[in-house]
Amino acid sequence: MPYVATRDDCIFCGIVAGKLPGRVVYEDDRTVAFLDIFPLTRGHTLVVPKRHCVNLLDARTEDVVAVALTAQQMARTVSDRLGADGVNLLQATGKVAFQTVMHFHVHVLPRYVDDGFVLPFERTPGVDAELDELAARLKS
Ligand code: AMP
Ligand code: ZN
Repeated sequence: MPYVATRDDCIFCGIVAGKLPGRVVYEDDRTVAFLDIFPLTRGHTLVVPKRHCVNLLDARTEDVVAVALTAQQMARTVSDRLGADGVNLLQATGKVAFQTVMHFHVHVLPRYVDDGFVLPFERTPGVDAELDELAARLKS
């Protein structure tokens, strides 16, 4: 059993520890998946590491890997059992990115034809010079 750190003031730690109610649909040594109580689509599920961390930046590599594998498994499960036609994975790191619960989590959003879920952005082509400069700054 890997090290599990829970925080008394964290909702998702409470669900992981079984101290707060949660509709848990999957659990393994490192991760738990449970239904989101404000579902954006039918079967909207959250995948969290058992060990508390705030977001993608402070998560340990092994927990990121474990969460990713569980998210893939849940994507398969909602496809098989709920008949989802597709899946979006969403991860919010930071309040500006819409993170509201400060325990790392990945949203598994089953998608259905005509489910009405839309992302509120329009896309326009990037400017070549800016893209070149950004690529140079980010390249490792
Ligand atoms: P985010 O905005 O990415 O931080 O997402 C947090 C998600 O947690 C939201 O979709 C909430 O609906 C969900 N949520 C908050 N409290 C609970 C809870 N007690 N059980 C299940 N989901 C929750
Ligand atoms: Zn926590």
